[in-house]
Amino acid sequence: MGAEYRIDPETGEWRIVAPERAGRPSDIAGGGEAQCPFDPGHEHMTMPEVLRVPAGRSEPWRVRVVPNRYPILDGGGEWPAATGLHEVVIESPRHDGDLRSATPGAVLEVLTAMRDRCRTIRRERRPAAIVVFRNHGAAAGTSLRHPHSQIIALDQAPPGLAGRWERAREFHERTGRRLHDDEAARERSDQVRVVHDAGGILVYQPRAAAVSHETVLLPDDEAAGLADASDEALKTMAGSLPAVASALAAVRDDPAYNLVVHAGPATGPDAARWYRWHIGLYPRVSRRAGLEIATGLGVNPTVPEKTAPILRAAFRSAVREPSSSAPPAPR
Ligand SMILES: [Zn+2]
Repeated sequence: MGAEYRIDPETGEWRIVAPERAGRPSDIAGGGEAQCPFDPGHEHMTMPEVLRVPAGRSEPWRVRVVPNRYPILDGGGEWPAATGLHEVVIESPRHDGDLRSATPGAVLEVLTAMRDRCRTIRRERRPAAIVVFRNHGAAAGTSLRHPHSQIIALDQAPPGLAGRWERAREFHERTGRRLHDDEAARERSDQVRVVHDAGGILVYQPRAAAVSHETVLLPDDEAAGLADASDEALKTMAGSLPAVASALAAVRDDPAYNLVVHAGPATGPDAARWYRWHIGLYPRVSRRAGLEIATGLGVNPTVPEKTAPILRAAFRSAVREPSSSAPPAPR
């Protein structure tokens, strides 16, 4: 049986039933795996790479992108089949590397590789959406410790994503402005939730944060998605991401988190008029409970006006001492 969509009749939400996923290896859940498929020397354990940095084989690789051996979408299931692509971005040859200890230069290479893949996938497949994300820690759903991100191209946009786009499009139609520009202007005016605002990027904790220390990184860019992101925007993002990840690790004792690149539709000419790509970081510090399951209401036990200044202070020390050895600060 292959992956297929099933729709919850009561909520209209889509699920992917992906039975192949159960067979994937894990070095986190069960006592550790002898051989990490993402380590140098183990390239044969992954699918053949679709992108390598550097491209030439005279030097060792620094970033590899490979099709996921256990794709969430394979399109082999009953109709409606869950079709698309699923790739893995191996961010570093170092098994014990991490975003928070990565240099801005290394992060820039990863972001640039992601942008290349988004462009190629868009051209070759014309999917509805391309989703780029990174899971850190077992509680965030990662099964392999080796630093990696994932790219999923969806041939159909699920209602949750289409609904986000619709709100941004409708806002633009009504006001002539982009939702994210208004959001940025409000954060800059309120100041209290801003973590960092310099060098072409605004980092803040949204007013309606769903979880403690939910953090947004919004570069000054005119693109709706990573595929069209400017060199400057990638550079400024690469300059901030390690410090944000370090700061988060310092204030909440290295929590599991999901990092998501939010983007508009993958294809379509006008998305940049009403959508701006940005990154959201969602620490896994609380659990989905009954009220949320019953109503969709998330309960954030902390106030972003109180947590943002804490992250801001940690961000500033992370920028001052960019290393993995920063000791955890008290909460
Ligand atoms: Zn490894």
